[in-house]
Amino acid sequence: MGIPSRGLSRDEVFAGLEHFRSGDVGWRSGRMWAYVYDAGNEVEDVTKDAYASFLTENGLDPTVFPSTLLLENAVVGAMARHLNAPEGAAGSFTSGGTESVMLAVKTARDHARATRPEVTRPNIVLPDTAHACFQKAAYYMDLETRITPVDDGYRADVDAMAAATDDQTILLVGSAVSYAHGVVDPIERIAGLARERGVLCHVDGCIGGFVLPYFRRLGAEIPPFDLSVPGVTSISCDLHKYAFAPKGASVVLYSSRELRKHQIYACSTWSGYTIINNTIQSTKSAGPLAAAWAALNFIGDDGYLALCRRMYEATRQVCERVRRHPDLFLLAEPDTNLVAVGSNTVDVFHVVDEMKLRGWFIQPQLGYANSPKNFHLSVNPKAERWVDDLFADLDVAIEAARELPSGNLASLVEGMLAGGDGELSPDGFDQMLGAVGIDGVELPERMAPINEILDSLPPKVREQMLVDFVNQLYLHDPE
Ligand SMILES: *Cc1c(COP(=O)(O)O)cnc(C)c1O
Repeated sequence: MGIPSRGLSRDEVFAGLEHFRSGDVGWRSGRMWAYVYDAGNEVEDVTKDAYASFLTENGLDPTVFPSTLLLENAVVGAMARHLNAPEGAAGSFTSGGTESVMLAVKTARDHARATRPEVTRPNIVLPDTAHACFQKAAYYMDLETRITPVDDGYRADVDAMAAATDDQTILLVGSAVSYAHGVVDPIERIAGLARERGVLCHVDGCIGGFVLPYFRRLGAEIPPFDLSVPGVTSISCDLHKYAFAPKGASVVLYSSRELRKHQIYACSTWSGYTIINNTIQSTKSAGPLAAAWAALNFIGDDGYLALCRRMYEATRQVCERVRRHPDLFLLAEPDTNLVAVGSNTVDVFHVVDEMKLRGWFIQPQLGYANSPKNFHLSVNPKAERWVDDLFADLDVAIEAARELPSGNLASLVEGMLAGGDGELSPDGFDQMLGAVGIDGVELPERMAPINEILDSLPPKVREQMLVDFVNQLYLHDPE
């Protein structure tokens, strides 16, 4: 199927698009507990219209589209206040958490290049609960990562971070909150360590930064985590998560404009137009920016507080149910609306599959270090209405999961890795999937066998296998 020889009608185009969507999990149902951050129809309508109305304006050049500069300053300014930025702080609007973090890491690198000539092999120190995008940033920029363990509550072990920090360290990282377990790291101690050692400190508030101030107002005990903490030099906060802006919206803030300068890229050694980019993207739609502004202004502080109250209450109910459940346990007591749930009696990957068959999406998380395999619930404002249904279906799913085989793939994997040098052969992944009856080019109905194989592999082999899988998946011609 290529480009059609004659253009389709408008109706045909939209019918075609709906057809693509027919296999998706229905997120409007309230049964999707990941990926979609839903504040209801009204917010959806307003933000989509705002997005479409600025779709064509190009954020590349604020001299031609001053609207994009004004909008960006308004959105970044609002977030600077929300996160207690000091006088003189500066920031940027970006396409998402990953871009915000990559920019913060690049800024740290270029700050070190400019001010610390003794740094020739820069490293960043981060707990193993920090989002993978820090490792991605380090990988792209060829920086060393020093990954430190976390405590029983899945919070950063600051002594371990101190031991990993040396004269080549450029950045310490803490999360507020971590994605996997929804907990705030000891940010004051991490930032204090950064100050003592003369290095920068980034707080990843991508998923927690927006809601934590509201959760605090609702009575949760939230330790200081933002730019008011001495030693915190940057923070990221996604708007496309719990600020309920459409996707493509995040901010990164710095404690000073001097620091933000290291983020900006200019190039005048080519023959085209002048390039001056403050973010990774160059040509970019102003749609996400306009929609983020619309979300902040349409929902407003009272609206966010009300939405957060619903998430706060629903999360408390979910946690209470899990605590009382004979087959489930909470990995951590979450500080926000993210809940990681494990089991000692049943395979959680089967539970996830069984829930999917019943129309629910809950996210599996593989085991790593002291964090056992689990499923992750992102609690939306709508969730309160669905808690009873969720746990009723979880009970059914758990019973069904008990009947399914588990544990035998781990030995298969060990057998296949034994004898080799711990690497997968190019066809290794196919062979493994074939052995459990899965055709590698189709998206499988059940993910538990794949998750079980992944869970039993060493992390490096996991990564290799995932790359092979996706490399196949996206080559497949639909016809
Ligand atoms: C989602 C998330 C990110 C990455 O953000 P994307 O918008 O998916 O690129 C980074 N850190 C945390 C804690 C997150 O939850």
